Amino acid sequence: MTSSSPILRPNVDALDSGLLDAVVHGEARLTPEQGLNIYHRLPLQDLGDLADQRARFLHGDSIRTYVIDRNINYTNVCTAKCIFCAFRRNHEDEDAYTLSYEDLLRKVGECHDIGGTQILMQGGMNSELPLDWYLELLGQIKSQYPSIHVHAFSPPEFIEFVSFFDPPGNTLEEKIRSVMVPLREAGLDSIPGGGGEIFAPAVRDFIGMGKCNAEAWLTVMKVAHELGMNTSATMMFGHVEGIGDRIHHMNLVREWQDTAIRDFSTDGGGRYQAFISWPFQPENTALGRIPQWGEGRGDDLSTEFPGDAVATLDGSGTRKDHRNFGRRLRMAGSTAYLRTQALSRLYLDNVWSIGSSWVTMGPLVGQVGLTYGANDMGSVMMEENVVSSAGTTYCLNEATICRLIRDAGFIPAQRDNEYRVLKPHFGPESPDMKVTDWSAFREARLHVENSPDEAGCGVGDGASGSNTIELTIDGR
Ligand code: SF4
Repeated sequence: MTSSSPILRPNVDALDSGLLDAVVHGEARLTPEQGLNIYHRLPLQDLGDLADQRARFLHGDSIRTYVIDRNINYTNVCTAKCIFCAFRRNHEDEDAYTLSYEDLLRKVGECHDIGGTQILMQGGMNSELPLDWYLELLGQIKSQYPSIHVHAFSPPEFIEFVSFFDPPGNTLEEKIRSVMVPLREAGLDSIPGGGGEIFAPAVRDFIGMGKCNAEAWLTVMKVAHELGMNTSATMMFGHVEGIGDRIHHMNLVREWQDTAIRDFSTDGGGRYQAFISWPFQPENTALGRIPQWGEGRGDDLSTEFPGDAVATLDGSGTRKDHRNFGRRLRMAGSTAYLRTQALSRLYLDNVWSIGSSWVTMGPLVGQVGLTYGANDMGSVMMEENVVSSAGTTYCLNEATICRLIRDAGFIPAQRDNEYRVLKPHFGPESPDMKVTDWSAFREARLHVENSPDEAGCGVGDGASGSNTIELTIDGR
């Protein structure tokens, strides 16, 4: 694991080769100003090269990983009304659902049966489910599938648990602990970083209506770390925020990680193991209906994007700072995505894993992400409901994800939730090496335009649902 305190050199120019070399080797840490400078001034390929060098310094030149898990969204009923969300429903909506224990256990069992090692279980924030519902569910999962790692309940869910269950405690931190301890004892293993979005209040208040603020989000993770649970951190960008907001977001993760390492690591504490960022997906969302910057009336592209005008590196900007803040989007394409991911690798010197997001960016950009600082390709996903509600569904099976990693120049390896390598795939028994004819995979279209049924992301067969557009991986 990396050192928690490489040295800041605030008076050195961000593009100074000595500084960048020291960052790559974990000897120097970027200031927020240097991070912003690097984002804007370094050519994309140079930024990618530095991030790649940093990833190779930490993870070596050979192995890049993936995990087999299942993403289970146990309910779509939610008290929040995030304007970027196409997934949530009200209790009374016809298509509101809460999965039964039977359905949930079946899904866990299917994941277990195909060699999956974990479930990622998150929901809407459903005020009708009591704490006992969660405790019973965790107990049943662990008694039937003790080897399955339960990675569940993001910080916003925990904050609503506190609101719904009114647990004992005088402070938010104590109340979170009062909920988290029994859930942990019932079988919760780690906490996913969902609901991170963008921490800066001006952006967060605008896009995440009813969702907890950054301080509460980070406090949930602090309690988890103190209790010895590992977590991840996420960021959803490419909407109304400025680039400075992304740096501010990463900076908070880095600062709280410093604290976790300093205060809890000698005591078996947890920490942020991974950072995953992805661009906002606009389909079927209120946020997605806002005009793109340059397409709105009176937009002058020679002036600053409103989000950049509001963004500050300390998160203190307010929406009053620009009259068009929140009225224009700046969606992130592939290069903005790669630039942001590469910066996260360099900036987050104390976070072990950077994940590439093929789920939103598509398999091929996800593959390129492995040379822009990512060491992990994420999940061979049996099921995904939240991003697919917003119009993006890619399906990858294990052979394909291995092939993507190998074609990027690395040896694919299945990992567990702790990022330990379980199965490196060197030889002819590798999932991708067993495939002799990739033509079927070329025909297997990996991008489903409409939300698929659950069978759409089959792990074992390389096929996907209907209503697809062509997207292939290169066959030899
Ligand atoms: S993003 Fe999550 S918290 Fe926000 S409305 Fe959707 S389900 Fe609820």
